[in-house]
Formats: sequence, C-alpha cells, structure tokens
Amino acid sequence: MGSVFAPHRRHTKQRDLILEIVQRLKSHPSADEVYHIAKRSMPTLSLGTVYRNLKLLAEEGKIKEVRFDQGGSRFDGMVEAHEHFICKNCGNVSDIAQTPALKHFAFAHPDLRHLTVNDYEMVYYGLCNDCRSK
Ligand SMILES: [Zn+2]
Ligand SMILES: [Zn+2]
Repeated sequence: MGSVFAPHRRHTKQRDLILEIVQRLKSHPSADEVYHIAKRSMPTLSLGTVYRNLKLLAEEGKIKEVRFDQGGSRFDGMVEAHEHFICKNCGNVSDIAQTPALKHFAFAHPDLRHLTVNDYEMVYYGLCNDCRSK
C-alpha cells in the first residue's frame, strides 16, 4: 500500500508538517520538541528526518535556525528580521519587532567603523509576564 505514494510526495508532506509546526508554535522549538509534536500526526517519523527537514527548511529560508546561550539549535518560524526576549526564569523566547532606529543605532557603533557589517543580533533578558506575576 505504501508504494502508491511517490517518495518525493511523502517527503513534501513531512516537510510541510514540520514547517507548519515551527510557524504555529512561535516558541522557537528545538528539533526534539518539533519531533514530539510531529509524531502525533506522523507516528513513523524519526528524529533524524525531522532534523534533516529543519536544516533544509532553514537553508531554503523558510524558517531560521537560531542559537541562544542555553546551547542547542532552535527553530524560528518568523523569517523577517526581529529581536528576541528570553525569560531568565522559564527560558521562554518571544519575538520583539525590530525598529529602524534600533537598527541604525546598532550599525552606528564606533568600533564597527573599519568592519563590514551585514547583520546584527540583539537579545533582551528578563522575566516574562507569566513568571513576573508568580
Ligand atoms: Zn518566564
Ligand atoms: Zn524569533
């Protein structure tokens, strides 16, 4: 029965599901978290397949691979330029919109005068609303 499905179509289905999960979650999940959620709709999926597809999607520019100081790679469904806020208590990552003034300020740093800067990254740390209200 499995043979009626062309392999490339199955691969596309897997990739679409993985993309949909990363975009829907907004929590910047790790490969492991995506795997556990994807498995509910595709029980035969392996962690290796999820990882490969995440890397491919990032290469295609459909998602972004991000790395924060806690270690491993996480995946971001928002590909437009933006900043991050990380809660020091629960580790929750939220998206912060980039403003032109902030970007200008970052690029205008005097130490960068003799360097060619293409990009920058800013991470804010603190307590998220959930942790603050506890
Ligand atoms: Zn928190
Ligand atoms: Zn993000």
